[in-house]
Amino acid sequence: MESASKTKYIFVTGGVTSSLGKGIISASLAKLLQARGYSVTIQKLDPYINIDPGTLNPYEHGECYVTDDGAETDLDLGHYERFLNTTTSQANNVTTGRIYQSVINKERKGEYLGETVQVVPHITDEIKHCIKILGETKNYDFVITEIGGTVGDIESLPYIEAIRQLKYELGKDSLVIHLTLVPYLSAAKELKTKPTQHSVKTMLEHGVQPDVLVCRTEKNLNQSLKDKIALFCNVDTSSVIESIDTSSIYKVPLLMKDEELDKVVLKKLNLDPHKKPDLSNWKIFLHRLENPKSIVHIGLVGKYVELVDAYKSIIESLIHSGTNNECEVKLKLIHSEQINEKNIKGKLKDLSGIIVAPGFGDRGIDGKILTAEYARKNKIPFFGICLGMQCAVVEFARNVLKLKDAHSTEMNKNTSHPVIDIMEEQKKVSVKGGTMRLGAYQCDIDPKSKTFSIYNQKHISERHRHRYEFNNNYLDDFEKMGMKASGINPDAHLVEIVEIVDHPWFVGVQFHPEYKSTVANPHPLFNSFVKASLNFINK
Ligand code: GLN
Repeated sequence: MESASKTKYIFVTGGVTSSLGKGIISASLAKLLQARGYSVTIQKLDPYINIDPGTLNPYEHGECYVTDDGAETDLDLGHYERFLNTTTSQANNVTTGRIYQSVINKERKGEYLGETVQVVPHITDEIKHCIKILGETKNYDFVITEIGGTVGDIESLPYIEAIRQLKYELGKDSLVIHLTLVPYLSAAKELKTKPTQHSVKTMLEHGVQPDVLVCRTEKNLNQSLKDKIALFCNVDTSSVIESIDTSSIYKVPLLMKDEELDKVVLKKLNLDPHKKPDLSNWKIFLHRLENPKSIVHIGLVGKYVELVDAYKSIIESLIHSGTNNECEVKLKLIHSEQINEKNIKGKLKDLSGIIVAPGFGDRGIDGKILTAEYARKNKIPFFGICLGMQCAVVEFARNVLKLKDAHSTEMNKNTSHPVIDIMEEQKKVSVKGGTMRLGAYQCDIDPKSKTFSIYNQKHISERHRHRYEFNNNYLDDFEKMGMKASGINPDAHLVEIVEIVDHPWFVGVQFHPEYKSTVANPHPLFNSFVKASLNFINK
């Protein structure tokens, strides 16, 4: 193992536009440093006022990613975990809302008694504390802090100011990577550096000189362009790193290695840049990703299909498991609101496996329930995740147990058969933020179930995010008719996994396996589901 004598802090900021992929660049650099033996963590600071993204609509913010410790976080944390195969926690995602909440709580307790509480130094001190706490408590060699948003935004200002102060305090133990866009103007047939120059000027106005520029581009930057950017932005040419568009986010670590981003960073932080990163397993993964032996068509039924970010972790998990099965998963996103009894066959007939997505509220619920019925009757591999599992339970109750108006009380409070019901401890909850059943819970698997043969383990831990749960009053009836509870929480006796015994692959999980799939460790349920889908085509 390599080790840096002191924690080094790397700040990643963005300029010109949002969506340049700061999260992927941060995760890729972290991967390269980890592959050299360093311990690395990545943190995201989000400049919005929500305490966390848990209360945000997926249309606003994409998926809400959940950590083991039950933090509802930005989806970039999913990338960090998937790239590094290490877990993140509440401390890895901080928002302006959380910063202000903490400062205001301190003010009320009298901790600043007599002082005027101000953005500088109180808010900036709190930001600096949230950054340094990761290095101080866990002794990481590197803490990479990604600042959400774009420099120049009003709401980013306190963060850039905190970085200015930290750079001054930490000196050679810190650096700033600024990610910008070098657009190609097709009419002029030219790449343009001006937006990058302006973006660096904005940083300079706030007193921060970026040390490394990562330039996102759709065409290669030639040497003279790199020289020009270096000249105008006060960096050496070797610190101008090209980040060209690529077909897979998983190629970015290798692109960054070719561009020597890791070496430049190590040199600037006075660490040895000579040792080569060991990326052998990563390369095996990429080789398999790029050379699939077959194709499998899987459908994802949800209500946010126009927005792939809403299902980011599920989509990535399928990429990991497709690669694990040496096949390409061609994913068809199907809008649950557009599924009805008449068209369902047309929409689902070419699929070898179907996932019903997690979600909240009743929009599109009937399409999800119909999908579960179609997969059950046609023996198509079916994977219901959280709300998807609940839909499978409702469908089974209605059509197999013949409980005609069975439903979840989330959708119908007055159902005579609440087969999915609000959890006891949720009944008293009225506050929305951070109050669901969140984070990792234990689950015991029945050794006689199919699920056991998938996990090969009796005790597992998976991450949750829900308020409703299988109603145990109905469990015997379900089991008699062939839907079995194959995973139970040992403390609360909640049903966490159901399976249909007489079906090639029909599993519903109350938890979110997609939060735990990584490149190094694709999730066993996704692996097995993709394998079953491959078998379905072969048949
Ligand atoms: N809405 C459901 C519940 O709260 C399912 C949540 C989910 O799919 N994450 O129980």
